[in-house]
Parts: sequence; structure tokens; C-alpha cells
Amino acid sequence: MLRQFELVEKVKDYDPDADEAALNRAYVYTVQKHGAQKRASGDPYFSHPIEVAGLMTDLQLDEQTIITALLHDTVEDTLVTIEDIEANFGPEVARLVDGVTKLSKIEAMPENERAAENLRKFLLAMSEDIRVLLVKLADRLHNMRTLHFIKKPEKRQRIARETMDIYAPLAERVGMYEYMREMQALAFRELEPEAYTTITKRLDHLRNQDGGQVDAIALKIKQALAEAGLTVEVSGREKHPFSIWQKMSERHVSFEQVTDIMAFRVITETEADCYTAMGILHTTWQFLPGRFKDYISTPKNNGYRSLHTSLMYENSMRVEVQIRTREMHQRNEFGLAAHWAYKQHDEADGQVGWLRDLIEIVDASHDAEELLEHTRLAIYQDRIFAFTPKGALFQLPKGSTSVDFAFAVHTDLGLSTVGAKINGRHMPLRTPLNNGDVVEIIKGAAPEPQLSWLGFVVTGKARAAIRRAVRLKERAEVAQIGSKLFDEIATQVPARIGKKAIRGAIDRLGLDGAEDLMHAIGSAKLSDREVMEALVPGCTADMDEDAQWPARDRAISIKGLTPGVGFELAQCCHPVPGDRIVGLRRKGETVLVHTIDCLELINGVDTDWLDLSWGKRSHGAVGRLSVTIYDRPGTLAEMAGVFAQNKTNVTSLSQSEFDDPFVTYEIEAQVQDLSHLARILSALRASDAVAQAERL
Ligand code: MN
Repeated sequence: MLRQFELVEKVKDYDPDADEAALNRAYVYTVQKHGAQKRASGDPYFSHPIEVAGLMTDLQLDEQTIITALLHDTVEDTLVTIEDIEANFGPEVARLVDGVTKLSKIEAMPENERAAENLRKFLLAMSEDIRVLLVKLADRLHNMRTLHFIKKPEKRQRIARETMDIYAPLAERVGMYEYMREMQALAFRELEPEAYTTITKRLDHLRNQDGGQVDAIALKIKQALAEAGLTVEVSGREKHPFSIWQKMSERHVSFEQVTDIMAFRVITETEADCYTAMGILHTTWQFLPGRFKDYISTPKNNGYRSLHTSLMYENSMRVEVQIRTREMHQRNEFGLAAHWAYKQHDEADGQVGWLRDLIEIVDASHDAEELLEHTRLAIYQDRIFAFTPKGALFQLPKGSTSVDFAFAVHTDLGLSTVGAKINGRHMPLRTPLNNGDVVEIIKGAAPEPQLSWLGFVVTGKARAAIRRAVRLKERAEVAQIGSKLFDEIATQVPARIGKKAIRGAIDRLGLDGAEDLMHAIGSAKLSDREVMEALVPGCTADMDEDAQWPARDRAISIKGLTPGVGFELAQCCHPVPGDRIVGLRRKGETVLVHTIDCLELINGVDTDWLDLSWGKRSHGAVGRLSVTIYDRPGTLAEMAGVFAQNKTNVTSLSQSEFDDPFVTYEIEAQVQDLSHLARILSALRASDAVAQAERL
């Protein structure tokens, strides 16, 4: 374990201006707070954060990152709060520690809920500052190094699997190849102990057989390059058991067939030397065509730069060679961390240095996809990640609300949503969620999706489900109206209408069933005459065409008036034949006819009320409606089409309200009678363009 002064010395070595007192305080703080807690190894717990801090100094990270590493488990595992950290170490360290703590959330999640890809995205999205991710990776690396101390095999397996699936790919993603390789090596040993042992034994065997081939080849390479006047460093290694195993399983070959088990690295002084060195190697040994890659002129997505080639050594052994400058090497092995560490020393404002680097890499990238890859910290900025109270993770587009979340969990949950708690607090359903929110959906007794939700949901799934549910509900309502109209129509045909007749009518009309028939009647897709004809074929042949009421025709008579007395239909309530009506007698004037529920009647309490009814065959009046449609191209025309299909003349139309995404119109239309008006309303409600339709 690093001692206090050793840690400080390491930091001072590359950053002479680092705040020694702050580093010392953080060291003491973590020792105190973790106190007597123990690791599985039996070591005091604080040895872990101190080792993690040590790993961060190897990457020459700034003092805030080192302090964050020291404190990274205090909030999670001790009584310390983020507020304590802020009071003692300032807001920046507090933010970083908070970030690392939040990343630990996933470790508490139930295993079956954790899709690896989801988690990688989550980790990236949560790591708004790359330093948070670096500390987390170092944390995991150290935990892997001490994995063998954990007694329970299931726990070891779980941690190893998680490392293989999540953390090693993440390390690769940000170019931390050293971390990636070590994590994979340690995880492989745990996950595939047999394969690990077999491959290791084979490697030992080979090594004994040829007595240190690696060093001999490295020397040969170095000599060849020195003869050409190049100063280089050459190192060689056997590939790690995991990468050999990977090749074996990817290419379905046996160990014997994996020929390139040795890899060499040539470090040059300049970029030009890289190409010179490669030319020399290619003329000294036979090289494998198609295996050569130039990542210097075309770096990998994460900024990796190097030349790669494969040579046939002594005609039988295939060896891999990587050629790069020292600076490229540093950056390759430690990715952006190294890139950042290099830069921050020449910049006054190291704080934004890493961000600037990121932008620099983005500028240098070639296409949109690569750019996205580079801005890995920005890549998921259009997404948020939220948890169920049980810890299941859901990924949603930014701006998503509790309703979107509920539908993401399950359509049934979405439909029965009545409220939501975000992080334990009741919040309006339209509240946009934030990264890391815990969302608890409150369910109602019955599904009752609200049309108004369409005004704020952002996911397609929620939108489609709400539309479907609302439409089904409307359909049921329309069918109900249709069923009432049907009873009326049935009385007009010259036969008793039973189930058999209805079935016959459904067949003749090519409909799906009784509900379908009632809906067709309710939404005025069928005229009375068509229904009658379907029930009793031929029964309408001698019927007066008038039964269909040509539009504009008006024939109103009122029963209950003294003969000779004139009447007028009131402009406030616009009674239509079929409404229950009363008349107000006014001295020397006509009788004013109101609907029975008209509010204007209050002003006539002391006048004479006449109990009126409509004369037989009365038809033709003005109906007033309020119709709310979606504000998008074509919806107004679609609404107008509904009126036209119902042979209705619209006499006045004005916009009364605009509430994105809806717009509401007040409409006056000539209707025949109450059932005509009801049918128009049903047809409007059945239209995709219409959100709501009511009589005024
Ligand atoms: Mn830790």
C-alpha cells in the first residue's frame, strides 16, 4: 500500500503545483472514515482507495482526480455525505465523487435486469466528466487484482463476468488498452479456468522448448533497424492467454494453429522513423499481405495511432509487429487519460483541457459515425437513464416523462398510470425525467389513458399506445350511440327484427360483427336507408326519398303553441329537433324556443313558460359544436370532410383556442335533428384528425 508521503511525492513529480495539504487531508480522511472496515483480503478497507489513487497517479492525473480516487467509496460505504465532501474538499471534488458513487448504482441492480450494452451506455452517459469514468475503471481494475480473495465462487464469477462484459469494453472504448488487457486477463482466468490453464501450460512448454525465442527475435529486429541507422526500442511479449483463446474461438482453430502468439513493439523517435522502420522490416523478412494497417495516417476512433504488420520469421513463425513513436505509445495505452495528462501541463486552464482535447479529436474525425464515436461522452446526451424502484434500468430519449417511462416498462402499466413519484416525491406526469431518476408509477384501478398525455409524451411507444386506447374507447362510445340509433331504425322496417335478421344484415353489409355494425351506424358510415335495406331487403323501394332529408331543407313545426302565434329558435342554445324544449312567451312578440337545459332560461323565470314539443317530421336547425383537432397539415380538411360526408353545411367556423398540439374550433352547422347531430359528433370523434368533439 502506498504511504501518504509516497502518494504525494508521486503527484508532485509530474505536477509540482499540486496542493499537498489537500492530498494529505484526503488521505487521512479516507483512512479515518473507512476506519476498521476490512477487505476480503483481510487488509484494511482504506488500502483500496489508496491503491486506486496510485493507479491514477500512474496516469498523471490532476489532484482533483487523485483526491476523488481516495474518497470514491466514502459516500457509498461510510456515513459521509456529498455535502461533507463538498465542505471539506470543494464543489469540484464533490461532483466527481458523486459521479463515481452514482456509477455504483448498477452494481446493486438485479442481475437479470442488466443488459451489458445498456449498462455501458449508462456508464458513459453518467460519466459527464471523463475523470469519473477513469476513477471507476481504476476502481474495477484494483477490485479485479484482488478478486481471488473473495471466498464465494458465485460472487467472483459475477464480478468477472461484469468486468468482461462491461468494464473491459468501456476501457477499450476510451482507449485504455492496458486496463482492458489486464481486466480481460484477470476475468478470463476466473471465467474459463480450464482454458486458462491449458493455454498457459502450452505457452510454458513452448518457452522451454525454444529457450526464450521472444528475446532473440526482439534482438534481431533491433539489429536490423540499427544497421539502417535507426535508434529504436524493441520489446516483445507472448500474447496473453485470453487473446490467444479469443483467436482460437473466433477462428475456430486449435492452439497449434494459432501461429502468431508473439507480438513485438518498436518505439521510434519520430513519425517518419515509423515508416522507415517498417520498410526495413518488410525487406528483411517476408511480410503477410493484407495484414498491414496504417493507424498513423488514419487513427482508430479512439485516437489510437500505430503501424501494424505481420512478418514470417524464419519462414515458419508468424509474428506481429507494432511500430509507433513514444508519444503515440503513451496515448495508445492510456487513451484519453494520457492525452489529457500531456496537455494539461501546457495549458493554464487544465480544467477544460480534456474537453478541448475531445473537441480536437472530433474535428479531426472523418465522418458522422466516427464523430459520434469520439464524442462518446456526448453520444448519449440525447438519452436519459431512469430506474424502477427495484433497480431495473430503462433508457429513454431526453425529455421523456413518467408516462413514457411507464409505457417503456409495460404497456399495461402505462395505460393504468394515474400518478408518479420521482425520487420519492410526487411530481406532475409531464415532468421531464433526469438521468439517474428513480421513477415509481402509481397505478389506477382501471386503465384510463388520457388524451392530453399526447401533448407531452415523447416516445413512439407511449404515443401509439395512448392513441390506440383512446380510439378504442371512442369506438365503444360511437357503437353505443349507433346501437340507440339502430333501435330507432328497427322500428321503421315492416318486420320484427331479431338476432337472425341482424346477422343477415351484418353479412350483407360485409361487416365484422354487431359491434362493427353499431359503430358504422353511430359514425354515419351507413345511412338509415342502407341499414333498413340490409335488414329487410327491398323494404325501402317504395319509401319516400324524403326520408333522407335533403340538406338545407327546413321544416319545423312546434306543438303546444296557440295557433297563429309565431316562434323563433333561441340563438343561445340552438335547439334542434329531438331536444326537449320550452317556450318563453314575450309580450307582443314571437315565442322564443329554448332547450330545457339552456342557462338563459334563468332570465325568464317570471315570464310564461310553454311546454312545447316538436311537430312530427320537424327537421333542419343550426347545431353548435366545439371540435378540437390536432394541429398538423390536413386535419382541418379531414374535419370538413366529416361534415360533408354527413351532408352538413358548415355556416360558421372560428378558432377559439390553441393549446399545442391541439387547436379548437367553434362550429355552426345546419343539421336535420338531434340524431343527425349525434351522428356527426360520432363521426368526428372517430376521425384520426379529431381529438375531441362536443355539442356546445
Ligand atoms: Mn471502490
